[in-house]
Amino acid sequence: MRLAVLKERRPAETRVAATPETAKKFIGLGCTVAVEAGAGLASGIPDAEYAAAGAEIARDAAAALKGAGIVLKIRAPLAAGEGAVDELSLIPRGALLLGQLQADEAQANAYAKAGIEAGAMELLPRITRAQSMDILSSQANLAGYRAVVEAAAAYDRAFPMLMTAAGTISAANVFVMGAGVAGLQAIATGRRLGGRVSATDVRPAAKEEIKSLGAAFVGYESEESKQAQTAGGYAKQLSAEFYAEQAKVVAAHIAKQDIVVTTALVQGRKAPTLVTAEMVRSMKPGSVIVDIAADAGGNVALTKPGELVTTENGVKILGYHNWPGRIAGASSSLFARNLLTFLTTFWDKEAKAPKLPAEDEIVKGVLLTRGGSVVHPSFAPAKAA
Ligand code: NAD
Repeated sequence: MRLAVLKERRPAETRVAATPETAKKFIGLGCTVAVEAGAGLASGIPDAEYAAAGAEIARDAAAALKGAGIVLKIRAPLAAGEGAVDELSLIPRGALLLGQLQADEAQANAYAKAGIEAGAMELLPRITRAQSMDILSSQANLAGYRAVVEAAAAYDRAFPMLMTAAGTISAANVFVMGAGVAGLQAIATGRRLGGRVSATDVRPAAKEEIKSLGAAFVGYESEESKQAQTAGGYAKQLSAEFYAEQAKVVAAHIAKQDIVVTTALVQGRKAPTLVTAEMVRSMKPGSVIVDIAADAGGNVALTKPGELVTTENGVKILGYHNWPGRIAGASSSLFARNLLTFLTTFWDKEAKAPKLPAEDEIVKGVLLTRGGSVVHPSFAPAKAA
């Protein structure tokens, strides 16, 4: 079984879907591993390290993909017209493609037509058994860490209270909005740096988690928010009335913050706007906002995706793309391990090949296409009654 690892070609993508460590493990499972030349460079991994792990270095995508039965990617392969290389057309029929594919119906149909078995790892069910394969968690965790580190670097004061002979510098007030995986790591990192940390969320379970990390909970709670969590663990879209009440509580708090980190997402929708232009105007000059949700439309009204904006009142808003990609060495290593765990869980040792049982809950959640058809319930055409 030949396993191919491609160089990522989409803008701002610095990660790679396999590391020398995982390549070696795949070789141990009986695979031959082909890594496209330069695939790991932006994550700090030279070709020589893959070669030392036993991988073949392929000169281009076509050479890596020739005869491949498994293809590992961070983001969806480029299709015709999307870039200089039509990666999709180079993937052999019957190959299993795994990555954060963010597929829609049209893409799912394109994979089916190409005869590719596509696994969209971001659709993994959030069950205990799947935790170690969960790319959303592993990447969000690092994004949360990185956001606070970048906030600290952009802030022209200090996070901890510093008592010096020349006088005292007060601790930074850090407010984290959205206490899921990224937010909880942001809280922990803000505390480690010595900030005075508070946080908000709409899911009731998050309140206890915020407090257990030593941060203060600030938020609006109502009958509606008691039901704010879906069975899958995500936040629900709530009513306009709820958001208006939440905004009132948040507005008073934000005016006193030095650092705001926003991480709030509602699955399948644009990220909710939690910080209005007026709230940004209420903040002190020199304050910093980091909007990790920028790629999902942003939690801050003034975020410009991909940019650092300095507002008229001197507030910096960091709305960069791809926060996990800003800490690419670590995020590649965890993403690669997530893919390795998925494949080893569904590995047929005799055949030395993946075996994805159609009835398995994880497989059902992830697999978009099989045998030339779209099989995922979210994308498959409704069966005739
Ligand atoms: P997410 O990235 O979808 O959203 C980030 C956070 O934003 C969530 O906590 C959400 O409640 C919050 N949010 C949404 N709207 C908001 C608003 N208006 N105001 C404030 N906050 C708002 O979520 P996530 O980080 O992927 O995880 C959510 C939950 O799932 C967590 O409890 C996490 O522990 C759980 N989880 C479970 C597993 C597992 O069991 N395998 C894996 C990963 C995550």
